[in-house]
Amino acid sequence: MSNNLPLMPYIDAIKASITAHADEIAQLDQAIGDGDHLINLQRGIEALLKNSEELEQLEFSAALSKIGMTLMSTMGGASGSLFGSMFVTMGKTAKGKTLDVTGMTEIFTAGVESIKARGKADIGEKTMLDALIPASTSLKQSIRNEVELSAALEDMKKAAIEGMESTKDMLATKGRASFLGERARGHIDAGARTSQLMLCAIADLIIENH
Ligand code: ADP
Ligand code: MG
Repeated sequence: MSNNLPLMPYIDAIKASITAHADEIAQLDQAIGDGDHLINLQRGIEALLKNSEELEQLEFSAALSKIGMTLMSTMGGASGSLFGSMFVTMGKTAKGKTLDVTGMTEIFTAGVESIKARGKADIGEKTMLDALIPASTSLKQSIRNEVELSAALEDMKKAAIEGMESTKDMLATKGRASFLGERARGHIDAGARTSQLMLCAIADLIIENH
């Protein structure tokens, strides 16, 4: 497979999905955060689109690293440094890898691990990790079971959606929502929702082009 995968269609698809759910995302972070998650994310996406010509010239691993550094320097918020470190790690991991389903899953899983390390968080703490970890686990399981690509991606979407929904009843132990104690219960975590939306947008585009 070429190591010059076109990344911009994925960024466009992510932007479309975030835009379609903008009000909902803003409200989620207003309820148990400080209300800036949507704006942080939009700032990051716009910075990537501004750099699209440069990103298109780069080989896959270098493009991922560049995305990470761009997100770190433009996005802001906890999510900016977490997504930034995810992409920088994915860029390092992608070097020399075959970009098939197994390789892509290894790259994604390394990115999720870097969020766990940087945020000192794990599943069940009402964060973006509650969408990302189940998605990574689902993909690894599909590879073990030799599930066909589209079905594997549909399963991954389901795992991300269930994980995102599971944050609703959780107490938060990391991030701003952790200051709210019991008052955080009953609200879905904004970062879990946006991570799930982005994963679904990417999966749908891969399925469509498959
Ligand atoms: P901030 O919290 O600085 O205002 P954002 O609003 O952009 O930044 O992002 C908030 C999201 O970041 C939360 O909804 C949560 O999903 C995620 N988050 C916050 N802290 C952590 C952490 N330590 N580990 C993983 N994710 C985190
Ligand atoms: Mg916030």
